[in-house]
Amino acid sequence: MPRKYICPSCKMKTGVNIVYGMPGIDLWEQHERGEVALGGCILEPNQPDRRCLACGHEWQIVRRSEEPDLFMLADLIKVVAFAANKHKNQRRKDHEASPYINHPIALADVLANEAFVTDLNILSAAILHDTIEDTETTEQELIQLFGYRIASIVLEVTDDKTLAKEDRKLAQIQHASHISVEAKTVKLADKICNLRDIISSPPIGWSLERKQVYFKWAEDVVAGLRGTNARLEAIFDGLVLKGYSDFT
Ligand code: NDP
Ligand code: ZN
Repeated sequence: MPRKYICPSCKMKTGVNIVYGMPGIDLWEQHERGEVALGGCILEPNQPDRRCLACGHEWQIVRRSEEPDLFMLADLIKVVAFAANKHKNQRRKDHEASPYINHPIALADVLANEAFVTDLNILSAAILHDTIEDTETTEQELIQLFGYRIASIVLEVTDDKTLAKEDRKLAQIQHASHISVEAKTVKLADKICNLRDIISSPPIGWSLERKQVYFKWAEDVVAGLRGTNARLEAIFDGLVLKGYSDFT
């Protein structure tokens, strides 16, 4: 999927188009003809403008080995397969009872494609974020399969189910500012996806008031997550505004 390159100098999303992904046969052929460079980021051929339009930074075409990217992709697929299997019998609470795994995948999609987060630990933790809370998955299992860092981010975004529901909601507000930046990033994406769901495919039977209460609570949680990712925070703020207009 083509997308704009983010300038490493001024961070503006401008300049050349690139294609992310694993090189397929077509791209290998183009590569043989010298039309594209391979790697995690594949430059589109014949791109005229190789300067950042905002700050003038000159784009350097760096041909990277594709292998590390292939390993990363394989790791992420392993994470998705694991989460899909763990959530296989669960459904969301919406009218269609959507497959539960749509939700963790939606988090990773927001992070990767709307906020341009590339940290594999964050993307993996997003996909795994409800495994400990909502399935039989243990921390040890995650450590063994995916390593300590990913497991600990998942644990940071996991509610303590021994607490009563009201206390769990309060605990999320109180803990938000104390968790790691990676966990905050996952949590922002989680709140974004749940607000989107409440706007477009809410849990069955939710009154207007219940939606308003959830939005207010989400705002209180996100207050403790601010300063983490400006793009995610802007998306969240846009949804809150939409909620205020839809739910009044
Ligand atoms: P729930 O925690 O029961 O449901 C919301 C959670 O469900 C989300 O955070 C999300 O969690 C998951 N979810 C699954 N499907 C959807 C979907 N389609 N859209 C959005 N979220 C979905 O509800 P509350 O957060 O409201 O918490 C319950 C609290 O509400 C209790 O404390 C209770 O006392 C109170 N309550 C309030 C009422 C009211 O009218 N104000 C009425 C009844 C209860 P995840 O991302 O983890 O899957
Ligand atoms: Zn969630």
